[in-house]
Amino acid sequence: MVSFVRNQNYSTLTTFSNHIEFAQNLDKKDPLANYKKQFHHPKDQAGNDLIYLCGNSLGLQPKTTAHYINQELNDWANLGVEGHLEARNPWLAYHEYLTNGMASIVGAKPIEVVVMNTLTTNLHLMMVSFYKPTSTRYKIIIEADAFPSDKYAVESQLRHHGIDDKEGLILWKPKEDDLNHLEDLEQLLNDHKDEIALIMVGGVNYYTGQAFDLKKIAELGHQHGANVGFDCAHGAGNIPLNLHDSGADFAIWCTYKYLNAGPGSLAGCFVHERHAYDKTLNRFTGWWSHNKTTRFNMRDEFDVLPGAEGWQLSNPPILSMAAIKASVDIFKEVGMDALRTKSKQLTGYFEFLLKDLNHPGIRIITPTNPNERGCQLSIQVKNADKKLHQKLTDKGVISDWREPDVIRCAPVPLYNSFTEVYEMVQRLSDVLNEQE
Ligand SMILES: *Cc1c(COP(=O)(O)O)cnc(C)c1O
Repeated sequence: MVSFVRNQNYSTLTTFSNHIEFAQNLDKKDPLANYKKQFHHPKDQAGNDLIYLCGNSLGLQPKTTAHYINQELNDWANLGVEGHLEARNPWLAYHEYLTNGMASIVGAKPIEVVVMNTLTTNLHLMMVSFYKPTSTRYKIIIEADAFPSDKYAVESQLRHHGIDDKEGLILWKPKEDDLNHLEDLEQLLNDHKDEIALIMVGGVNYYTGQAFDLKKIAELGHQHGANVGFDCAHGAGNIPLNLHDSGADFAIWCTYKYLNAGPGSLAGCFVHERHAYDKTLNRFTGWWSHNKTTRFNMRDEFDVLPGAEGWQLSNPPILSMAAIKASVDIFKEVGMDALRTKSKQLTGYFEFLLKDLNHPGIRIITPTNPNERGCQLSIQVKNADKKLHQKLTDKGVISDWREPDVIRCAPVPLYNSFTEVYEMVQRLSDVLNEQE
């Protein structure tokens, strides 16, 4: 069957067809198709590649990563402490090798970006500087469906300041369509006039896959006197974020999801340029936030580094950064524009195939407008339980199950193919038919 997908917000008219040959042909024409081979793909017991749609949870390992890490292991073995200055990539400056690449992935200026710590740690450090409650302005807005770690972190910041976390936490609730709407955020800001100190929402919601208009949210927040931060764990490497232009005060993201830097790898942090030289901003500090030229004098008065680097605490784990460098180098080569172009097509095809199943029990929660989502589709399967997800896994599809009834699938443009998306929908269809 051939069908036309026309979306009023989507300027291109795309013709898709529900045939394996059509999917294979899209792969043949895909300029990024060769990158698939540059990643390790988990296999089933028979040695066949699984269909891995969990890059929103843990990205696959680039084949170059081992080489990057081995370089540092060897330099450590051969040089010991001298590696700080003598390693091929001297460790002292290692985080700087990531800055330009990471800045272009998230649409920021280099001075605005640093790789350090892990995501939730960075969120706390950012709230130390950008959540400054007063007796009247002390509330924080988050999405009702925020990632649990973000909610716990925000609640603990409220308590840390002696504020009741139920009273201080304001939830931006989705409408019946399960999506968050800007007019509701605006309503909250008006309802809590002069009380909101901070808005902290996801760049892309982890559950629905909805991508927010960061610039509009930052403008709204600032107009109402609040600081604005974004958790871009599901945005970085997935959609162009344009963090600098958004005007957000800060953003944080991890590198193990779409940035393929390995389990628990270090996180990114963005602080807008307008704060780069503000030494009056309260912050937690350590020797790595101190002026690089005098850092090792050890006895100087604290002299904070400008920009996001001025929020670093410790000398960072080089082995984790080596894995990030391997990944950032791939992103540099491909570029976010090419990735995004394929991503829209790949996810568009996925959406087409799911709709073409015409199954009454299936509903896609994620927005249909490609500009309001990344690669992930969140598929609600009515009356399903975890057994359905297990059956899909048994058929070689690695996806993510969220209670009560949602399967999250992220076809990643770097290493997933149109054929895999086609196969996935076939197998989902088989599982649904077996159920009936
Ligand atoms: C993945 C994710 C986290 C995880 O936090 P860590 O500190 O890396 O464990 C937090 N928030 C969001 C929105 C996420 O998607």
